[in-house]
Amino acid sequence: MKLRKLYTGNVVYGELPKGCKLCLRGLKTVVFVTGLCPRDCFYCPLSAEKRGRDVFYVNERTARRAEDVVAEVLSCGSRGVGVTGGDPLVRLDRTTALIKAVKEFFGESFHVHLYTSGKTLTSEVVRKLEEAGLDEMRLHPDARDVDRVLRTIEESEPGFQVGFEIPMLPDAVEDTLRLLEKLALHESVSFVNINELEFSESNSEELRARGYKLADDWRSAEGSREAALRVLEEVSERGLSLNVHFCPAASKDRYQFRLRLYRRGTLTAMPHELVSDGGTLLKALISESCENAPPLLVFRGRLGYETSVLAAEVFGANYQLLEELPDSSKTLLNIT
Ligand code: SF4
Repeated sequence: MKLRKLYTGNVVYGELPKGCKLCLRGLKTVVFVTGLCPRDCFYCPLSAEKRGRDVFYVNERTARRAEDVVAEVLSCGSRGVGVTGGDPLVRLDRTTALIKAVKEFFGESFHVHLYTSGKTLTSEVVRKLEEAGLDEMRLHPDARDVDRVLRTIEESEPGFQVGFEIPMLPDAVEDTLRLLEKLALHESVSFVNINELEFSESNSEELRARGYKLADDWRSAEGSREAALRVLEEVSERGLSLNVHFCPAASKDRYQFRLRLYRRGTLTAMPHELVSDGGTLLKALISESCENAPPLLVFRGRLGYETSVLAAEVFGANYQLLEELPDSSKTLLNIT
């Protein structure tokens, strides 16, 4: 089987998991169930505000209950959610309640994928997730825990897809290939996602201490991408019977995040707000209620009166161009 390079920069051997297909089109809302996790990976990219804290977010907005998730999904027009953490299985009841709620509200075809370290995975947990309606599980176990996790999956025969998701450490090509060879022998594992190793504010010290360097893009680790591509080429050469996919760090920002924002912008923009190609909201901040502009075109914003750029120009108002993110708090990006 040949490798395919997608327009997003992702490289695929075999089939892309459904959760990734939706994610790359900006059709997934991200639900951060808890910052608690039984593992302590040195490369964990979680921020200090989230790591080790029992916090609940939907697309970077604090959530209290499943209804908050439903509301955000509606604002973004998502066709699924990615349930992440920390490890969502540490808060199993919260996680299953959330899965049930979105399935009940949006229907069976609404896609739910979940990330877990697998540390607390048992047949009973698999059964509860299956009953809740989970579609896809992505495991990231400790190397010493892989066999137990595989046994659990095989014994419980889940009704959802199971895959692994791992970061590509630049010096771990051989270890990664050994893991993939092993997983290819297990029919219960359908895919492996390999992520470009990312530097974040919280993990950069640990990564540097281990000799990893920040690449020129200022976000990924030097050599991670090349190592992942070497792994994929080898997988293709060996003809492993497993779907393997490399996800570059840039695709998260350029496609998953930007396209989701763009959709949120088009669905939530006020009549005077223009959604730019980059997914931001553009509008005119006028110093006072413009005398010539019909009142229907003027809105009271948090910084003063606002109208559309077109209306400001047509009615000759002095204005400053406001640019905001279409997120829940309308983050201010620029005033020019
Ligand atoms: S399993 Fe994931 S969330 Fe948990 S410590 Fe490792 S990288 Fe962080």
